[in-house]
Amino acid sequence: MMIMKKKICVSVAVFALAFSAITSFSSVVYAKNNDPALARLEQYAAAINEQSKRSIGYPVNHNICLDGFYEWYTKNHLDKLMINNAGDPMKSSALLNSATFEREVLEHFAPKYGFDKETFWGILSFSGTDGNDHGIYFGRNYLETTTNMKPIVYVSKEAHYSNMRLCHLQNLEVRLIDADEHGRMIPEAFEKALEPSRPALVVYAMGTTFKGGVDDQAALNAILEKKKPVAVYRHVDAALFGGYLPFTEMKDMVNRNVNYFDSIAVSGHKFFGMDEPAGLFLTTKEVLSKQRSFAAEYLSLNGDMPMINCSRSGITPLKFWWLINHDGDKHWTNDAKNMLETAKWFDAQLKAFNYPSFIEPNSNTIYFKRPPEEIMTKYGLAGGSDERLGGKLAHLIVMQHVDKKKLQSFIDDLKASLKKE
Ligand SMILES: *Cc1c(COP(=O)(O)O)cnc(C)c1O
Repeated sequence: MMIMKKKICVSVAVFALAFSAITSFSSVVYAKNNDPALARLEQYAAAINEQSKRSIGYPVNHNICLDGFYEWYTKNHLDKLMINNAGDPMKSSALLNSATFEREVLEHFAPKYGFDKETFWGILSFSGTDGNDHGIYFGRNYLETTTNMKPIVYVSKEAHYSNMRLCHLQNLEVRLIDADEHGRMIPEAFEKALEPSRPALVVYAMGTTFKGGVDDQAALNAILEKKKPVAVYRHVDAALFGGYLPFTEMKDMVNRNVNYFDSIAVSGHKFFGMDEPAGLFLTTKEVLSKQRSFAAEYLSLNGDMPMINCSRSGITPLKFWWLINHDGDKHWTNDAKNMLETAKWFDAQLKAFNYPSFIEPNSNTIYFKRPPEEIMTKYGLAGGSDERLGGKLAHLIVMQHVDKKKLQSFIDDLKASLKKE
C-alpha cells in the first residue's frame, strides 16, 4: 500500500510539473536557468500585458514609444551606473549626471507654457504631485519673503487631492472652495473666502481629476483684481491637460503670457509617454530668487539647493530627451488631436442611447452614470459622485492607447450589462 501511494504522489508531481511548464509563459528560458524568480516575473508580465488591453480608466499613456532607448542604454553599460541629477539642473555638478539633457528638455518645454528661455527656471520633477509640492513651496517662500506674512492657499474642492495633502504637509492654511457641477471653482465662493489682508497662493486646476473641469482663471483673476490681496502667487496644476493642450489650438490656455501664472506642474507619464512617474515643474528666475537660501556644502559645486529633493533621476531626462528628439512634437500634436476627437465621439455614442454622459470643453475625460459593477471591474474604472448630476458616476480617459475599437467593445459590454439588469 505504502509503495502504491508513493507512486501516485510522484506521478501527480510529475504531471503537475509538466502542466505548469505548459501553462507558464516562456517556460523554456527559466526552466533551463531554473530561476523561479524569473518564472514569477514572466507570469507577472503576461498578466500585465493582458490587463493593459482593457485599461481605459486612468490618465496614462500605454502607447509608449521608447523604441531603441533601452537598447542604447544597456549597450553602453549605463545600466551599471547611478546617474544622479541631484541639485540645480541649471548649474554644473560633480556627480555623474545628465543635467545637460535635463536643461535641454526644460528649454524645449518652457516656451510652450509662455516662459522666456532666458528667465525661466525649472526641474524635471518626480511627478505631477512633486511639481505641485514645488509650486506650493516656491509660492509660499515667494510670498513670505516678499511680504513677511504667511499666505493662505485657495484651491477648489475638486482639484487633485495632492494639493490639499501638500498644504497639510507644509503646514499652510488652506481654504477649499466649492466647485460647480463642471468641476470649476465657483467664483462667488472664492470671493467670499478670499482674505485680502493675507497673501494669496492660488492653485488653479487645469483639468480636475474626475471631471476634467478647468478653473475659469479670467473670472477668478477678476476677483483677485477687485479684492486686491497684499500679494498673489498663482500655481497651475496641469498634470494631465498641461501635456496635450500646448499641442492643440487651445494652447493659449497654458500660456502664461495670456493667462498669467507663476509656476506650473505637468506630469511626464500621463500624456508624454514616459514609462515611469515623471513631471515638469516650471517657474521663473524671479521666483527662484525669492527662495530661502540654504547652501549645501557637500554639493558646493552646485551651490544653493532650492528644490525639495536632493537626488533626482538622471535617466528621466535622457528618456524625455529621446522622446523629444524622435519627432516628439509631431507625435504629440497628432496624439492630442486624436484623443480629443475620440473623446467627443465616445461621449456622443453614450448620449446616442440616452446614457447620461458629460464632457468638459478641451477635455479627454468623459464622466457618466456609474455602470454596473461587472463593467467597472472589467475596465478598471474609477468612481465618483455628484448629486447635482444624478448621484454615482464613473469616468474614462481617452489616452493614446484608447481607440474607438476599445471604446466600442466597452459600449457593447455596457449595453449588454444594462439589458441584464
Ligand atoms: C494626475 C494628477 C495629479 C497627480 O499627478 P501625479 O503625476 O500622479 O503625481 C495632480 N493633479 C492633477 C490635475 C492630476 O490629473
